Amino acid sequence: MTMKVWINHNTKEISVKTAKNIRQKLEAAGFEFDKKNPDLAISVGGDGTFLSTFHEYTNRLSQMKFIGIHTGHLGFYADWRDNEVDELIEALKNYDGQTFEYPVLEADITYTDNTTKSFYALNEAIIKRPSKTMRADVYLDGEFFERFRGDGLSFSTPSGSTAYAKSIGGAVIHPKSRVMQVNEIAPINNRIYRSISAPIIVPSSQEVKIIPAEGSDYIVNYDTNSRTNCSVKLIKYRISKEVIQFAKLRDRHFWGRVEHAFLGTNDYK
Ligand code: NAP
Repeated sequence: MTMKVWINHNTKEISVKTAKNIRQKLEAAGFEFDKKNPDLAISVGGDGTFLSTFHEYTNRLSQMKFIGIHTGHLGFYADWRDNEVDELIEALKNYDGQTFEYPVLEADITYTDNTTKSFYALNEAIIKRPSKTMRADVYLDGEFFERFRGDGLSFSTPSGSTAYAKSIGGAVIHPKSRVMQVNEIAPINNRIYRSISAPIIVPSSQEVKIIPAEGSDYIVNYDTNSRTNCSVKLIKYRISKEVIQFAKLRDRHFWGRVEHAFLGTNDYK
């Protein structure tokens, strides 16, 4: 059966040009194009563009695969470079269907008017309160854990551990680990107020529930998406049963990418 492909790209000139080049080459090789129900989504841009591509297709994660091409530096999701297009096309022509998977996070919000919303995140989901101290009760695996006071809380996937979570003191976690990392953002800690003030790693079988004490001015983020002025009654975060599947066209070494991105001392293609 012919593979149905869709190419999503950002608006940078190099990304538009690269996407056009890939489309022409895939059409010539007999691939079909289907924006709504692709078997494979190719993202051209950066890791940010890849996150947008992921959010286009969260309703059919189990039915499709992803590839990311970076038109700048090498990325974590966008781990092909724009000068590797011919190699990528050849690999796709001979593709045997193998995949590798990364965990995805899911969250269910209940607003104070009892309406609900669920969403997925590939990097992280954040709840924060910009105007005043956020006060919230944190429940781990069904039991009360702490009363948090500070700016907010971040819940990240292993592949999101090299993004925002790393900037706020989180651990870098290999995406083969099916865990969720919880990080406090600017926690208040003194003789009166106490919270754990350390990253917490939660297994995929457990859920974290957050009940804010008050306020209608929360920001709820998931990857590149943001909802402002949210009146949140509670949010539950967990590692999803869904995963993102990448087309495995060659071997990639996660720690090599980490070294390349943050230390840059070794040669890494
Ligand atoms: P953005 O400008 O699209 O991304 C900010 C930077 O984060 C870009 O350099 C992006 O790489 C990089 N990035 C994205 N996912 C990554 C990952 N898994 N590992 C390592 N680096 C990654 O910002 P946005 O649209 O507001 O948010 C997208 C993501 O960026 C968020 O999910 C968050 O994790 C991250 N972010 C981080 C900070 C921070 O560290 N203080 C602040 C804002 C956002 P590319 O250049 O390849 O796109």
